[in-house]
This record gives sequence, C-alpha cells and structure tokens, in this order.
Amino acid sequence: MLKGMSIRLHSEGGAGEVTGSKHVLSVDGARCLIDCGAFQGKRELAEEKNRALVPDPESLASVVLTHAHFDHCGMLPLLSKRGYRGNFYATPATRDLASVVMMDSAAIQSRDAEYLGKQAAKRGEKFDWKPLYDENDVVQAMGQFVTVSYRRPLAIGDGMRIELFDAGHILGSAMCRMSARDRSGREALIGFTGDLGRKGKPIIRDPEFLPPVDYLVMEATYGDRLHESTEDAIARLAAIVNATAKRGGKIVIPAFAIERTQELVYYFHVLHDKKLIPDMPIWVDSPMAINATSIFQIHPECYDEDVHEAFIKHHENPFGFNALHFSSSVQDSKRLNDLQGPAIIISADGMCEAGRIQHHLIHTISDPRNTILIVGYMAENTLGRRIRDGMSEVRIQGDIYKVRAEIEEINAFSAHADYAEAWDWLSHMDLVRLKKVFLVHGEPAGLKHMSEYLREKGVRDVQIVKYGEVYDLGATR
Ligand SMILES: [Zn+2]
Repeated sequence: MLKGMSIRLHSEGGAGEVTGSKHVLSVDGARCLIDCGAFQGKRELAEEKNRALVPDPESLASVVLTHAHFDHCGMLPLLSKRGYRGNFYATPATRDLASVVMMDSAAIQSRDAEYLGKQAAKRGEKFDWKPLYDENDVVQAMGQFVTVSYRRPLAIGDGMRIELFDAGHILGSAMCRMSARDRSGREALIGFTGDLGRKGKPIIRDPEFLPPVDYLVMEATYGDRLHESTEDAIARLAAIVNATAKRGGKIVIPAFAIERTQELVYYFHVLHDKKLIPDMPIWVDSPMAINATSIFQIHPECYDEDVHEAFIKHHENPFGFNALHFSSSVQDSKRLNDLQGPAIIISADGMCEAGRIQHHLIHTISDPRNTILIVGYMAENTLGRRIRDGMSEVRIQGDIYKVRAEIEEINAFSAHADYAEAWDWLSHMDLVRLKKVFLVHGEPAGLKHMSEYLREKGVRDVQIVKYGEVYDLGATR
C-alpha cells in the first residue's frame, strides 16, 4: 500500500455516549464528517466539550447531516463560525427542521448570556461567558446546505459518493450509504444508520432497508431495552385522558417540539375521531413546536401511507382538527392558566428544564385532579426526572411545590429502535457481505448488551467504537 492511501473511520463524539454525534470517514486524508451534534448533559462538561469542537473545521472536505435533532446538528453553526465553508448535505426536511433547531439554540444562548451577565453583575463578579454561536452563524450555516432527496446518489468529492435512505426516526431523518474509493483503487461501502427509527410510527415511514455495505456504523441507544407496543400505549393514553377528564382535571404533557408533539397531536386526532376520548380542548403551547408543525405540513414526501391518504385524498389536515389550538404568544400561554375544566396541554421543553412547560407545571402539579404525563426520556438531574421518580415536592423557578397531581408515564413513543427491532432491521441486510458492525450512540451497558446480542445472532464482527480510535476500512473487491 502506498503511503497516505487509505479509508479510515473514527468518532469524535457519540462514541460510548448518546450525544455529540461526530463520525469521520477519511479517504486518502480527505475527511467527511457525518453529523456535528452538540454534547448535552451536565452543563459545564457539555459546554467544555462543545467549545473544544473537534474535528478541526479546516481539515474537513464535506459534512453529511443525518437528521435535525440537536445532538446531531447542534454544532454545525460553530463549524461555520470557525471557518468551514464546504457543504452540509441533508434531506430537504432535515435542512428546514435544523434551521429551527439551530436558531432556537442561538436564541437560548443569547438569553443565557444576558441573564447570567446580569446575575454576575449583581454579585459584582467578572463575567466573560460568550455563546458558542449566534443567529448570524446560523444564517451562514444555512447558506451552506445542499439538499439531497432519498435515493438520489451524489458524488461529494474525490472518491466519495453518498446515497440517503429513510431512517424512520423523525421527519427527514436519513441513513447514509457512502462509497469510498482511495487512489490505489481500494473501495469500501459504509453505512451510517444515524438514529435508527421504528416500524409503525405515525406520520413518517418505516425505516428502509439498506442495500449491501461492507461496514455499518450503527446506533445503540436502546441496546439493552425493549419497548412496549404502540397499540398498548395508545390505549393507555386514552385511559389516562378519560380518567383525568372524569376528575375534571388537566393533562399536562412535557414533550420535545419536534416529532413527539406532532405524533401526540396525531394520536389525539385519531382518538378524538373515534370518540375514544371526550370533547376537550387540546393546546400545543410551544413556538418551536408550531414552527416545526408547519415544516411537517410542507414535506408530504416524508409521509407514510396513512397520513398521505388522509392528507391528499380526504383533504384532511392530520396536524389540525377542531379541538386543537396552538398558542404562540406569551399572553395566549398565560391565558391557559385560567382554563376551566378538562384540557390537554402539550408544551416544551421535553425534560422540563426550561420553557413554558414550567409555568404549566407550577399551575397544575399541586392539584390531585390533574395528571402530568411523561412521554419521553428524562435525563438525570432534570426537573422531569424528579417528577418521574415520584418526589413529593419539587422546586420550580425557585419555589417549592407539593406534587399532588397523578404522575403517569408512557415510554412506547420512543423514536429509537430497541435492540430486537434493530436486529430485525439488520437481519434484512446482506450479512455475508457485511464485514463489521461499529456500534456508536449508546451508554456503555447498552453498547455491551447490543454487541453480545448481535454476535449471538451471527453477525461476524462487532466493534464498540472508542472515542478517537482510528479503524482502517481497506475493503478490496
Ligand atoms: Zn435523533
């Protein structure tokens, strides 16, 4: 082999952990980055890792974005700010949703800087914290997107081609199949799952099966967990709404603004049409969710059959029905506090750490007629986690509140395949051709279980990717 000729893979985030996804494929030294996500979790540590931003933007030839979740797209504006001027390849829906997510982050960072600066000034302390990026950097990043629809193969540089397939995770989410050929003629086909979705999610399609690859970089968020069935979850959702309505209470649902909120709206639409829940107002109180919903409306190319039919054939809008209301202004949001009688309120942030959901919790959590319904993952050290764990009182915006509302949890709305679903998806691939599976995007226990499970199922070679470790992919055919 001549010096410098090579096809290599390494990860600079999302290896041994679930946030900060950044995977680098190098062909003869030209580097393509797959996802540039933000690290999340304990604030100071996440901030330090995000600010460090590896890989070096100057060394990158191209960037592929699999989907618009913050832990996959959140650091793209920082790449632009630090001098990267190449392309960001993504599906059209991902580009649009990423715009909302990145702008939201820039706004939160600038509000934080202002608030923390004032706090420091009150204490007479020096304050030199600066946001990682601002709105201008997001505008710069948006100008670098090149959109690629599903199954439209595209050359993205010397020896590199990509093709995107529906990952069934959130609107616009993609798996990427990359073909890489180095100067010596060695060629490898590498698949990246991004976040692997699940069959039977509403609105979006099921994950596609990938055509043959030599190597697969696969996520393992639920590498050691199985989800309950969606049918059971919808039945429970109806039961919780009915029980709360009988008590004359409200159902407050903290939910992420993208995908989860639109899914809930869709389920409530179906339950409402079938008269399985009583007539009651349903409020979506989150400006980002409202922006995201309008993006859902303009991307019918991402819908599954059911929604497509409702939308196109019956002229019905799956994201709007009589009982549904959106509130975007702060005044509207505050008016919800005075709502009398049963109602459903869906609001962000999904882990209750910030945003309007906190006001709704303040007004509902101490009344036993109400229900707080948890539908998403609540990370450690968050308000959402404390509520989920059944604390008898919680602190919200500085004040202590007794928890007297019913606390319910439904986990089946997850957007990630569990390990059995992941294997079911993988088993449709050409496993004779597949030389190795690289596992990323998981906690250590999940990664370990997943790797043992796949080996038991007969996958030839499974590698848990270590942060920074370089893997040679010199496949010859
Ligand atoms: Zn995701």
